[in-house]
Amino acid sequence: MQVDGMSGVAWKVDNGVFSIGQVSGDVLTFDLEGRIIFASLGGRSYRRTIMNRFLEISSAGGMRSIRELESSESEGVAEAVYRRLDEMAENAGLPDAHDTGLDWIGRRDWNWLSSDAMKLLEIYGGGIPVIPPDQYFALYVRYTRGCSWNRCSFCRLYTGISYAVGSAGNVISQVDSLRAVLGRGIYSRRSVFMGDANAINSSTVEVVKAIRALHESLGLPIYAFSDAFTTPRTKGEYDYRQMHSAGLERVYIGVESGNRNVLEILNKPMDLQIALNEMRQMKAAGISLGVIIMSGAGGRALAEEHVGDTSSFVAELPLGHGDVVYISPMVEYSNSPYYDTVMAENLGILSKDEKLIQALKLKDNIIRLWSDKNSRVPDFPVAPYLLAESIY
Ligand code: SF4
Repeated sequence: MQVDGMSGVAWKVDNGVFSIGQVSGDVLTFDLEGRIIFASLGGRSYRRTIMNRFLEISSAGGMRSIRELESSESEGVAEAVYRRLDEMAENAGLPDAHDTGLDWIGRRDWNWLSSDAMKLLEIYGGGIPVIPPDQYFALYVRYTRGCSWNRCSFCRLYTGISYAVGSAGNVISQVDSLRAVLGRGIYSRRSVFMGDANAINSSTVEVVKAIRALHESLGLPIYAFSDAFTTPRTKGEYDYRQMHSAGLERVYIGVESGNRNVLEILNKPMDLQIALNEMRQMKAAGISLGVIIMSGAGGRALAEEHVGDTSSFVAELPLGHGDVVYISPMVEYSNSPYYDTVMAENLGILSKDEKLIQALKLKDNIIRLWSDKNSRVPDFPVAPYLLAESIY
């Protein structure tokens, strides 16, 4: 870290990220081409996604809240960040430091960020609907497009998108295009997320080729989504072992609920015993799990069964260090079959606060049941999954 004694500005380049800040003041981080990553500015905190969406992150009373900014607000934040960067860099004498590789300072603005994001959109052929919350530093690579099931009653992520499967060749040419756009910015990426939904469910031979090609080309761990109802029909421990040895580190599975009635309303044809076996096989193959459950699924009428059965289901999983359980609040889209069922059967929609209370109950139950079963406290987090935060 370099500190300028006169101005009190400190800066460093570490692991593909440039940070600059003033003690107890503003702190800004960028990738090595000048894309904003985080900014703590004027007492507010922002995160920019690689697709140029800005989130304001705040916490009050121990509760974290996330708000995505409108485009005009985002532009204002971006311009303020670059102005502040220019000031701090000048105070620290950075523009004169020719050997830093930070010669982009003073040459970045909102227009540059916007056109950069357009180039990424072009490579992906459209926006990225969702990533797990711990994957915002991932390099997203589209191996499949859409979801092979695409029929869960509550889900709108891939509505209207025809499912397609790529190849190892596709992902490598995508990586070449991403490298060309991201430049040295690629060094800020910590993992590769192989999207879209359920990327590991196509032919094992092809999936393994794609995972290996990505892992060898980028030297980063690979992450992906899976489901627990179509995948177990074609995959077993042997397939997962091959994927893991090719570089697959963790798989995120939307279990949503451990209650059969709730699963039926969600139109998730998941046999709980098969799902359990699938996840045990993944673990036995060395793959970590990201288990996603929902608070509010099944509404008020099924709340008790949902909490009880879901907690019991998660407690059966062989989780440990490297795994994570996410609790995501249900979003009831009014034009979804799920909403229609909830209304027709008078199940009742939980309020935001009720979903929060249910999430806390789920968390407490999971920790208690899992600890009882395993005679130790969990060494994996049970954390919130906020869709508003999980944007790329
Ligand atoms: S499997 Fe996942 S992505 Fe596909 S429809 Fe269901 S919730 Fe949506």
